[in-house]
Amino acid sequence: MESKGAVLMNRYELGRLLGQGTFAKVYYARNLKTGQSVAIKVIDKEKVVKVGLKDQIKREISVMKLVRHPNVLQLYEVMATKRKIYFVMEYAKGGELFKKVAKGKLKEEVAWKYFRQLIDAVDFCHSRGVYHRDLKPENLLLDENDNLKVSDFGLSAIAECKHQDGLLHTTCGTPTYVAPEVINKKGYDGAKADIWSCGVVLFVLLAGYLPFHDSNLIELYRKISKAEFKCPNWFSPDVRRLLQKILDPNPNTRISIAKIKESSWFRRGLKSKQIKSETGSKDVAPLDTDTASGSCKSNGMATEAKQELAKPTNLNAFDIISISAGFDLSGLFEEPCQKKKAKFTSRKPAAVIISRLEEIAKLLRLKVMKTGAGFMKFEGLKEGKKGILSIDAEIFEVTPSFHLVEVKKSNGDTLEYQKLLKEDIRPALQDIVWTWQGEEQQQQQLS
Ligand code: AMP
Repeated sequence: MESKGAVLMNRYELGRLLGQGTFAKVYYARNLKTGQSVAIKVIDKEKVVKVGLKDQIKREISVMKLVRHPNVLQLYEVMATKRKIYFVMEYAKGGELFKKVAKGKLKEEVAWKYFRQLIDAVDFCHSRGVYHRDLKPENLLLDENDNLKVSDFGLSAIAECKHQDGLLHTTCGTPTYVAPEVINKKGYDGAKADIWSCGVVLFVLLAGYLPFHDSNLIELYRKISKAEFKCPNWFSPDVRRLLQKILDPNPNTRISIAKIKESSWFRRGLKSKQIKSETGSKDVAPLDTDTASGSCKSNGMATEAKQELAKPTNLNAFDIISISAGFDLSGLFEEPCQKKKAKFTSRKPAAVIISRLEEIAKLLRLKVMKTGAGFMKFEGLKEGKKGILSIDAEIFEVTPSFHLVEVKKSNGDTLEYQKLLKEDIRPALQDIVWTWQGEEQQQQQLS
């Protein structure tokens, strides 16, 4: 049992219970060293293993690590004891957006601000092959500046979960927010399904009630399948038009995020003052027409860069787990051999990554043994301490212009490999790498 005032791992003082999900309790906590407020999600390991949620938790960690955006709740670190897993996350002081809506519909300009931030976050996730699949007001939290933070990636799926037809096949999500194609249990496109949910969220923010509701589940599904909804009379013509396009039961003709961003309602120029006074926030995003007309991504990236600088710690789950014997969760999350892996993401096409790896091999006098289907093998020319050094590189496509690359030693001496990785391979990859994962782990092992 986690009790108020208890100190976790000598690092965090636990505070009040913030909320509860099926498998987790979320507590407020304070970092004893820095004083920083965080939220800690406590998961019972036994329950997770019992109900086979291992993969889901693994996915949740990978997804949160992959997605760093000002409107996506950040995961700072993961810790574990024998029985519990602790996710230390960014604290969203404003709580659930849902609570605001439960008090009544929001003014159009306020709903517009949240919707813009939601679309910005979802667009960013999609560009990285991440689909949320459970977007609803309960998963939309607010920070102290009244900015939206998308949370709860428990049900999200990354591109690797797609079947060969490129469609997602798990039925999940909350009935009132899910797209017709998800209900119909046909394979579906995660991006299109998320867009539908964003439409339902927008409707709820503006109306104060759901677009599809019925006490009879069959009737509810019928309404969703036909997109049978009615806009209340206070909805402006612009937003009605947009909602019609988002809540299109046919995913093939449903509007794309790019088109949503081009729509007149999304681009409307609102005076920032109007919103500041409505939300009571001093720090809302600038809302001039320039930022509204499609440059919100770069605007988001600028904020992201600033947050990056201000960020206290940047440890990630696997690093902490694998360097800390006491927190050894490696069996739960990763194969032991993965500790030898270095991973990086790149925004370059696969061909560029492959040719750079070949150049490096040439430079380091390594033989390129095998290439094909995103897999490369390199071998040293001379015997090392433990035989010939052999390195594998595997390239995974997240999107055509976003790749995850895993580099690992498959034979030879570990220290020899790590030295090569640190002193030669990593610097030579510098300009094609977007982010390295396992940064801390690499440094610890080498020091
Ligand atoms: P979850 O298990 O992620 O659905 O979280 C359950 C509830 O805990 C949420 O609905 C929120 O009310 C609360 N909560 C979760 N994460 C946070 C957070 N980072 N900051 C503040 N409250 C949170």
